[in-house]
Amino acid sequence: MKPGKVYIVGAGPGHPELLTLKAAELLRTGDVIVYDRLIQEEVLALAKPAAERIYMGKPVGKHDSRQDEIHEILVQKAREGKTVVRLKGGDPFVFGRGGEEAEYLAGHDVPFEIIPGVTSALSAPLSAGIAVTHRDSASCVAIVTGHEAKDEESRLDWSVLAKMPTLVFLMGVKNAGRIAGRLIENGRSPDTPAAVIQMAFWHDEHVVVGTLATIAEDIEREGIKPPATLVIGDVVRLREKLRIAKRDLKRRTDGTSRFEPAPAPDQLLRLATAGLGTQALGFALENALFDALEDAVSAEDLSTRAGFNAQAMPDVLDALVALGILEKKDGRYRNLELATRYLRQSSPQSLRPALLHQARSSASWRRLEVYAREGCKDFVAVGDDAAYEASCESLARFAAPAVAEQLDLESSGPVLLVGWGNEAYEKALNARWPGLSFTAVNPFTSTKRALRMLCPIPEDGPYGTVLLSGLLASCDRGQVQKVLDESAAALTPGGSLVLHDSFLPVSALPPPEVVLGALGRHMTRGGCRTWSIGRLTDALTALGFGAIASKALPAGTVLVTARRG
Ligand code: SAH
Repeated sequence: MKPGKVYIVGAGPGHPELLTLKAAELLRTGDVIVYDRLIQEEVLALAKPAAERIYMGKPVGKHDSRQDEIHEILVQKAREGKTVVRLKGGDPFVFGRGGEEAEYLAGHDVPFEIIPGVTSALSAPLSAGIAVTHRDSASCVAIVTGHEAKDEESRLDWSVLAKMPTLVFLMGVKNAGRIAGRLIENGRSPDTPAAVIQMAFWHDEHVVVGTLATIAEDIEREGIKPPATLVIGDVVRLREKLRIAKRDLKRRTDGTSRFEPAPAPDQLLRLATAGLGTQALGFALENALFDALEDAVSAEDLSTRAGFNAQAMPDVLDALVALGILEKKDGRYRNLELATRYLRQSSPQSLRPALLHQARSSASWRRLEVYAREGCKDFVAVGDDAAYEASCESLARFAAPAVAEQLDLESSGPVLLVGWGNEAYEKALNARWPGLSFTAVNPFTSTKRALRMLCPIPEDGPYGTVLLSGLLASCDRGQVQKVLDESAAALTPGGSLVLHDSFLPVSALPPPEVVLGALGRHMTRGGCRTWSIGRLTDALTALGFGAIASKALPAGTVLVTARRG
């Protein structure tokens, strides 16, 4: 049997968002999680449901025997071939006995790795607004165990500690009085500021501030209990300036599980486009595309070879790139390892028959097939105009507040909206800039009208800002150019062009739902993928625009702004 491996993993001070990416990944994949008292429920909730969770909290006073048990469990589980995650609060090598555990594993030939974590020694003070070093008051910090304060045999040199600018004591709550006493005996002023932070980043975080002379009483009075960190030094005064009123770390109010979900609209879009992923995979398997993609090939060559439409094919291949099956480099497509191994008909490990069968029973890709063979039809295959318009309108309505948030129309002249979302934009813009002059036209409200669109821009300008909403999704190329020309002519010099649309910057690798959404639009509605950020930038530059910037907004849309020269 393959030997397992033990990961000694720092879990940080408690909050799930303060885990390292590696710790979160190991938690999600590990077979056995061995944890102790300092691990939050919310962190444990990340473990896969099937993982075995072993609690190894140490009852006070029984340290050593428990430690032996931990060592044995780690070795035993690894020898069963399991991936063992030994989860420790903070950083595993800061008073966590992680060193001993690693030593034991090394001595028993068990493979292991150590993943650092955010230590409470530094993050608990930070959480309370205390920087443990500071240019003006502390160029050195000592991290000390609080266990040895009562010990006459202490290996700590208190006369040295008393001179340290900043002292951080872990495990020091019970002995805070003795710690303060020893420091004062060794010459530290009783007025030195001191703070205790209980359960930093947990639900019941509590901070108490006093001085060396008062801190033990303060702890007693406020009922502070371990785990808590004691900080001593002038840096404690910084708390007044650096204290954070409200944290941005996300957490569930019920204290139970998981991270907050990603922005919800994107997740919903993912659900809405998931079926197209099945179609793209099924279509590609059926046509043995992966056998043709073992060597890098351009969409054009592939189309010629297999009788596909050269304009439509990049759409289909980009969808497979977005799904993480192919890679695209210098305009050529190629199988990723996964496709080579499982998707080629000729691979000994091929899963093609099973996947194809599964995809066939989950989706029909007849429409995609027609698109791939014949290419896009410009605005002919429109089934339901009203549904299309309602979809454009809802996206614009959804985006209007976010777009308004990104703009500065303080000294803009009159604003003209061309496209979708009339009422929503009027409301969002007026809320930020009351009394702003606002006019709206929508030349795209019907495909037929879009084709015949003559002069969409009212001539009663000039305007300080022209906002184009849903232009690229609703027009073909000639029309886009025409609207851009007219917008430039309608703007005052120095005026702004703002464009909000559903496509992403070419430089980024767009998420699958955006790519699949575009594929779906091209299949059902026609209109070729003629516009990209790159092409738009060129067109705007040619029209004398400068300061061209683009930014991704939620639900797979993008905002482009430019200033007329
Ligand atoms: N390896 C851990 C420290 C283990 S010793 C780390 O790097 O953080 C345990 C001590 O850490 C506790 O007694 C307490 O002093 C401190 N501690 C751990 N978690 C804490 C938290 N969330 N807030 C404040 N102190 C904490």
